Amino acid sequence: MTQRPYNFSAGPAAIPEEVLQQAAAEMLNWNGSGMGVMEMSHRGKEFMSIAAQAEADLRELLAVPAHFRILFMQGGGLAENAIVPMNLSRGGTVDFVVTGGWSQKSAKEARKYATANVVASNEADGHTTLPAPAGWKISPGAQYVHICSNETIHGVEFHELPDLKALGSNAPLVIDFSSHVASRPVDWARVGLAFGGAQKNLGPAGVTLVVVREDLLGQALSICPSAFDYRVVADNASMYNTPPTYSIYMAGLVFQWLKRQKEGDFTGIAAMEARNLGKANLLYNFIDHSQFYVNKVARDCRSRMNVPFFLRDESRNDAFLAGAKERGLLQLKGHKSVGGMRASIYNAMPLAGVQALVDYMRDFEKTCA
Ligand code: PMP
Repeated sequence: MTQRPYNFSAGPAAIPEEVLQQAAAEMLNWNGSGMGVMEMSHRGKEFMSIAAQAEADLRELLAVPAHFRILFMQGGGLAENAIVPMNLSRGGTVDFVVTGGWSQKSAKEARKYATANVVASNEADGHTTLPAPAGWKISPGAQYVHICSNETIHGVEFHELPDLKALGSNAPLVIDFSSHVASRPVDWARVGLAFGGAQKNLGPAGVTLVVVREDLLGQALSICPSAFDYRVVADNASMYNTPPTYSIYMAGLVFQWLKRQKEGDFTGIAAMEARNLGKANLLYNFIDHSQFYVNKVARDCRSRMNVPFFLRDESRNDAFLAGAKERGLLQLKGHKSVGGMRASIYNAMPLAGVQALVDYMRDFEKTCA
């Protein structure tokens, strides 16, 4: 088979080829059942075993402690912007740290259900830094503090989660980890709830992962739809309503792929972290040594997953993108709110793909000399 192009989409994003091949092979007949996964009852033993395996594999990969529940929901990250306050705010005060487009959206949505305060922001410098937690003005009695731990559009990432207890707050930390879940370990001791859409690092769109501390269940507002009440979802093992069965199956195949990954002495998520560091370093180092390209994010908070960059001469943008496509480097156009380029280099992007991008960037610069 000829090599597929390298796909730098921010999401829905590339899926490991091995996973796509396996899904294709099992499309008409999963495991001798005579049925494709899309055709199975979610209550039958075949799909129940697929879902149970996916959950167990994810728990092992991400080292999710026993006092957290893993939920497979629907509606994506944007629905969680409403579902989280409906479940955790008790109609009181909730705090947001705004570090880019996604946390900004979260704060706005929460205002429908609670009093939402912005307690720190990097807006003044164009979302290119992260406000140090020591300066956050957490509200007394805040029901939770929300951060987006990796801002997909602006390319800033928390490399360490804030320790709210050390800041004198008992509020649970809520993280939107949509765009870097499974790219690195999670420090669960600092987290109350984590959510993310699957379509970047976990598989196809359609399933939303929620990992929630058990003691936070059971306090939803009365207006919260039952299908979005974490207590109800947890009590029904994510099958209160028909779950997105095929997306869960695909995510399960990605989890098995992740478990097989090795990098030096590392396996699983540790292997992914090592590989992702290598990929990000390669691309940022190239950009930083160039007079032709620029990345504007402060070095200590640059995302390992989403690398926005600009050509200093923006009149060459269209030519850059057309040449990239000819070389099999797809979906590099930046988000419309930022412009320029963005290379999303999630788990499914191999080092060779980032090397191919850097080689192209170098060659393109030469053609402009
Ligand atoms: N949060 C983050 C960090 C995202 O990157 C995205 C999607 N790009 C969303 C939330 C929204 O996700 P969805 O479109 O699945 O609702």
